[in-house]
Amino acid sequence: MRIVFIGPPGAGKGTQCRQLSSHYGIPHISTGEMLRATSEHSPIGRMIAQLIDGGNLAPDELVMQYVVERLRKPDCQPGALFDGFPRTVAQAGMLDEYLAKKDAPLDMVIHLAAESDPLVKRLLERAQKESRADDTYETIQARLEIYDQRTKPVLDYYRDAGLVSSVDAMQTAEGVFQSICGAIEQRIGSQLPTSLS
Ligand code: ADP
Repeated sequence: MRIVFIGPPGAGKGTQCRQLSSHYGIPHISTGEMLRATSEHSPIGRMIAQLIDGGNLAPDELVMQYVVERLRKPDCQPGALFDGFPRTVAQAGMLDEYLAKKDAPLDMVIHLAAESDPLVKRLLERAQKESRADDTYETIQARLEIYDQRTKPVLDYYRDAGLVSSVDAMQTAEGVFQSICGAIEQRIGSQLPTSLS
């Protein structure tokens, strides 16, 4: 089961992927978490922190390298839930190429659909609880703009491949979870996951 989650910042990708990961027993791969976990004591870590804190994207090749390293681990054999990746059409192309070589293509893409205004409110509330350096008003605006410019085209890329199911992300977290499970069951059903070797 290989599923990509696409949605603007604050749409709830992380919350849903964590819950789905324990529900289906499939690892959750969050490029945002992997990038934030890179030590700020290394030059690469400092570059990444600067980009993230300004609301900008990390370089495509670097992100892909992190994802490939993660996919090589044995727990990804039954599949992966990709959260926040791919975020650019270039990343989507690299992922497709990698998965095609493994003969293990994506099963579907879940689009968490949400309008900007309530997202800004959600993200500012999260900033108070989690104190993430990229949850300031200015950075949130920058991230939403980058989502429109760089990530929305990824949705079109996957729409052309007929892989996208959209879910309303403004329901309660439980409502979103149920909608996602419904979309997964409709598209993938009880199909057994193929292995990523
Ligand atoms: P959110 O979805 O709320 O923006 P994430 O944790 O997914 O949060 O991402 C935080 C930041 O990490 C992004 O704004 C970006 O700077 C960086 N990032 C995450 N995933 C990617 C990616 N696939 N490509 C480039 N940069 C990324």
